[in-house]
Amino acid sequence: MKQLMIVVPAYNEEEALPKTLEVLDGVLSEMINQGQVTPNSQILIVNDGSADKTWDIVVAASQANPHITGINFSRNYGHQNALIAGLTVAQDAADIFITIDADLQDDVNAIPEMVAQNAAGYDIVYGARNSRETDSAFKRNTAELFYKIMGKLGVEMVPDSADYRLMSRRAVIHLLDFKEHNLFLRGIVPRVGFPSTVVYYARKEREAGESKYPLSKMINFAWDGITSFSVAPMRFILGIGVLSVLFAIIMVIYAFIKEITGHTVAGWSSLMISLWVIGGLQLIAIAILGEYIGKIFNEVKDRPRYVIQDNLLNNEDLDDKQFTRH
Ligand code: UDP
Ligand code: MG
Repeated sequence: MKQLMIVVPAYNEEEALPKTLEVLDGVLSEMINQGQVTPNSQILIVNDGSADKTWDIVVAASQANPHITGINFSRNYGHQNALIAGLTVAQDAADIFITIDADLQDDVNAIPEMVAQNAAGYDIVYGARNSRETDSAFKRNTAELFYKIMGKLGVEMVPDSADYRLMSRRAVIHLLDFKEHNLFLRGIVPRVGFPSTVVYYARKEREAGESKYPLSKMINFAWDGITSFSVAPMRFILGIGVLSVLFAIIMVIYAFIKEITGHTVAGWSSLMISLWVIGGLQLIAIAILGEYIGKIFNEVKDRPRYVIQDNLLNNEDLDDKQFTRH
């Protein structure tokens, strides 16, 4: 029997969290009763610098229920960092880890199935939604486009799987060896390797509160995913550059022929157009280079990915430094 840790990132989730804790605790208790996981299995809430009552709810719940624990960031560090923090802090506190969002959009009934698949020998069990009916048409279409582009760019991902997955302890330990700061977990986890499988579930509406991923965060996330994993945008720019040089050679020949046959006209419009086209291409190329250099800059600074302010997990033997620098 294995010890399970359910890691839940939460950012301003005071509306959804009480229900989420109740539901997750129900699932966990049931699994403990069935002898599927050990009685000391837990739910770890990572409070990602919420401005609302999220952390108070976690503290109260942890006092009332030994199955609930939490860590509290000193500010908002983002969803992906919250997941990494939860796994880092809990890596020695369980045998298997499940990450799930705080809004219960992912079906908790898949948890026992994930654990069963792990018992059957899989180190990583991806939760993948089998339909997106409850997402808005906009979210559905953009997500579809995103996975299509990522696939084309050669980033390995399990389609329609988000950050709902089970990982064994050894998979987590190797995942934590990936030290990059531009985190895109759903692209990294498949690179850890180990036997893996997929469990399908229907994704539901958000239980309460609003999406913490507005369009701007979604675009940032997608762009990070692309530029953290692929140099395809740079190759694309190179291709356009080569094409425009070829085009320029043709234009020179064309202009030369026109010249010797005596058909030259004042070339103001063609000059203006090429000025803008080339100028635009150069700006795009520089911006893309800048994006990669910025990423290198971020990695080189090697700043901590997050700072933990409070840790309810093994509070007694807490060595501050151990948890504050990563
Ligand atoms: N989240 C977080 N930090 C953030 C944004 C979101 O920890 O800066 C958490 C949020 O509380 C939720 C999960 O990440 O548990 C996914 O966010 P959300 O449900 O808002 O995203 P969506 O499902 O709309 O893509
Ligand atoms: Mg959600």
